[in-house]
Amino acid sequence: MRTIDSLGDIAGKKVFVRSDFNVPLDDEKNITDDGRIRAALPTLTRLMDSGAKVIVSAHLGRPKGEVKPEFSLAPVAKRLGELLNKEVKLAEDTVGDSAKELTSNMENGDVVLLENVRFDPREDSKDDSEREALAKEYAALADAFVSDGFGVVHRKQASVYDIAKELPSAAGELVFKEIDSLSRATDDPARPYTVILGGSKVSDKLGVIENLLDKADRLLIGGGMAYTFMKARGNEVGTSLLEEDFIEKAGEYLKKAKESGVEILLPSDNVTAPRFEESAPASIYDTGTMPEEEMGLDIGPDTRERYAQAIAESKTVVWNGPMGVFEFPAFAKGTAAIAEAMQNAEGYTIVGGGDSAAAVRTLGFDEDKFDHISTGGGASLEFLEGKKLPGIEVLED
Ligand code: ADP
Ligand code: MG
Repeated sequence: MRTIDSLGDIAGKKVFVRSDFNVPLDDEKNITDDGRIRAALPTLTRLMDSGAKVIVSAHLGRPKGEVKPEFSLAPVAKRLGELLNKEVKLAEDTVGDSAKELTSNMENGDVVLLENVRFDPREDSKDDSEREALAKEYAALADAFVSDGFGVVHRKQASVYDIAKELPSAAGELVFKEIDSLSRATDDPARPYTVILGGSKVSDKLGVIENLLDKADRLLIGGGMAYTFMKARGNEVGTSLLEEDFIEKAGEYLKKAKESGVEILLPSDNVTAPRFEESAPASIYDTGTMPEEEMGLDIGPDTRERYAQAIAESKTVVWNGPMGVFEFPAFAKGTAAIAEAMQNAEGYTIVGGGDSAAAVRTLGFDEDKFDHISTGGGASLEFLEGKKLPGIEVLED
């Protein structure tokens, strides 16, 4: 993968950077978690310090190809300026008059942020020629391209993929670090290699489960997806989240795992409640004994201990998906137990998935105690599945 070094001397040159600034906003448009903006700083400061004129592009939300002010990057421009300690000018458009004017009046080390790339329907068009046309307009603003939005490298989009064909291009610091770290789980991982999967749905993670059945030594399953697996084993799950259509598939995975010597661990006990509600009274039931009117909202204490033990014994640990409804404190203990076991583990620890990374932060864990917390949900899953990511392939020699 080409790195920023491959671009040579960039002093005075205009560098078009694709970042991932798709941050959560509250109703007043305040950024509630600026993790993704902070993750972009190493590349941006490096380019600024090298004397480049830095043109940054990003998307926010799903404006679906229309200019919608509620998806403006204005809050990001402000926060980015604070973090860089330098004014970040925001263009009023992506490749229009405002973008052209601001980017043609830059000093070395200046930063201009273009407006949301998804205001232009060509950005994620299925039609190659439409994306290419937009990529040429991006390219006309700059001399080089740096791809640093790891969260979007699995997308074949104009500012991620097509532009890399128009300009000398390289991976930024974040993309480089992500690939380098995630590769420790895909290229000959240190064993035992344990993967913890949770979150709401089995159907979201079929690809990764299927792929890991050949690669991981152990799969620990929790979260909402665990109930479909329990049902496949013949256990009643009350009113827990259940994907009827995937019970058969889950059964096949359990069988395949047995054949290939992969250990699948399922919850042995569960924290349940009569309703999906923060203040609902919590009870604990062993798997198979859950009453009809209760729903499982977290893994139970025995499961927490078994899973923590499995993590402690592992040399490589990948975690994607919370073990329970961690947004409700009474049902956050399972997720917290996994985070804690990973922090204490001697093996190489990777957290992937937007909600899992958010859980680590909101539950108050120190991010530095994990070896790698990925900024990309879908991108990290696809990488772990062994898929080729278009935004990475295009940066390869
Ligand atoms: P990630 O973004 O880390 O990949 P997901 O998006 O797949 O994770 O799932 C996260 C969501 O799963 C959280 O909002 C959490 O509340 C929910 N969840 C976890 N366990 C359960 C459960 N037992 N029942 C319902 N929802 C759950
Ligand atoms: Mg999610």
